[in-house]
Amino acid sequence: MEIDLKYIRSQFPILTQTVNQKPLIYLDNAATTQKPFPVLEAEDIYYKTINSNVHRGVHTLSQLSTIEMEATRGAVKEFINAKKDYEIIFTKGTTDGINLLASSIEPLVNKGDEIIISTLEHHSNIVPWQFLAERKGLILKVIPIDENGELLLNEFEKLITEKTKIVAINHISNALGVVNSIEHIIKKAHEAQAFVLIDGAQAISHKKIDVQKLNVDFYVFSAHKMYGPTGVGILYGKEKLLERMKPYQGGGEMIKEVTFEKTTYADLPFKFEAGTPNIAGNIVLKKAIEFIQNIGLENIEKYENSILKYITKKLEELDGITTYAKNSTSKTGVVSFNLDINNIHSSDVGFILDKQGIAVRTGHHCAQPLMRHLGVTGTVRASVAIYNTKEEIDLLIEGITLAQKMLQ
Ligand SMILES: *Cc1c(COP(=O)(O)O)cnc(C)c1O
Repeated sequence: MEIDLKYIRSQFPILTQTVNQKPLIYLDNAATTQKPFPVLEAEDIYYKTINSNVHRGVHTLSQLSTIEMEATRGAVKEFINAKKDYEIIFTKGTTDGINLLASSIEPLVNKGDEIIISTLEHHSNIVPWQFLAERKGLILKVIPIDENGELLLNEFEKLITEKTKIVAINHISNALGVVNSIEHIIKKAHEAQAFVLIDGAQAISHKKIDVQKLNVDFYVFSAHKMYGPTGVGILYGKEKLLERMKPYQGGGEMIKEVTFEKTTYADLPFKFEAGTPNIAGNIVLKKAIEFIQNIGLENIEKYENSILKYITKKLEELDGITTYAKNSTSKTGVVSFNLDINNIHSSDVGFILDKQGIAVRTGHHCAQPLMRHLGVTGTVRASVAIYNTKEEIDLLIEGITLAQKMLQ
């Protein structure tokens, strides 16, 4: 199937804007994607027609909003091929999902156990594990990377011991775009009886995810990086593990019975969903999933990879650019680079591009340990979504050439 770019772009009202008197070129999709009409309209319709609290009322609107929210749970289950609806937990996002897990998993770990993460992790897949390690006396170990930004898998295998309890790795690096060999990592971790969390924040809008085929224990992502709303995320967990975990927060919705002496918890998934959720956001996540499914993840991946190849080739044709993880054989969505000019910061480039209407990310991308490893304070990151075009990339390259002239 050919991608109907004109139609796809017409679904995103924000793309018709000008920024600094230039047509907006949005290449900060790894930070958040733009939202298509079906998502925007569904949120509006929800508030105008059925706004009410879920799982509580016998009244009609409450029942309707409950049905709609649970329909999203079902859609997510299908989207990632989970076995059961109740293995899908609504969260506020990837960060919230990892914090939930790193807190709720306490009954499954003991003092002296080990957690393995990687050099490529986002801060949200580092800090919650440091918290857990501090609370429970666990040890945090880090998989190193090679010069292509790829995980050193033989080093990973050496880190595994009989004390390894949790392996927490991102699927795709938000700073470099490198796709990790999670199948291999999951297999090796399971051989050591360890649980695996995959941070799928960067993968979910680019790749087909099948949690059963992956045999992954936990998989987390954010709706806002897959054309959906902010403040919404998903934690997938295997039923038998979720059952053994303790609740993350206490409050309404998550209980069976409360007395002042003792409280019993609700069944899955509600045990992990205390309080009123982002109902509108949870409901419209379904529209974002449908948007992706209508195009097809295979088509999306193929098209985006062609754009990524195009950027990489064009950057290579310029002199004076360092591209990170340039020779990695498996990359998706992200190109990270710097201009080879002394004493400039990646944000200097970002400001000049912004004047041309081009939105890129600069700085450390919430991955300071990785930046330290690369020996830089930050990079310029261009990240693609399904609506980006080759013409936009040509303008990006013009903008970079201009930045080289201005900063030289
Ligand atoms: C964006 C991102 C996160 C954090 O997601 P939030 O939506 O900000 O919670 C975590 N990990 C990776 C790889 C990301 O790209």
